[in-house]
Amino acid sequence: VTARRCTSCSGQSLEPDFLEDSSRNSTGYIRWIQGPLQKGLFGGARRWGRPRWDVEALRCATCGHVELYST
Ligand SMILES: [Zn+2]
Repeated sequence: VTARRCTSCSGQSLEPDFLEDSSRNSTGYIRWIQGPLQKGLFGGARRWGRPRWDVEALRCATCGHVELYST
């Protein structure tokens, strides 16, 4: 793991986590999708054909700040 620092307090104790998506029929985790949010006819996000990445959340053990990275 590369050494990352908290952008809030410069702490180095970043814990790897992820953000849960607990909605029904979901994969269980949040993903990053390229481009601005566009909503479809039924209020859901339009995401067909968009590049998508898993999102890694790093939590600072010192101050609680959460950094998000697409992986
Ligand atoms: Zn911090």
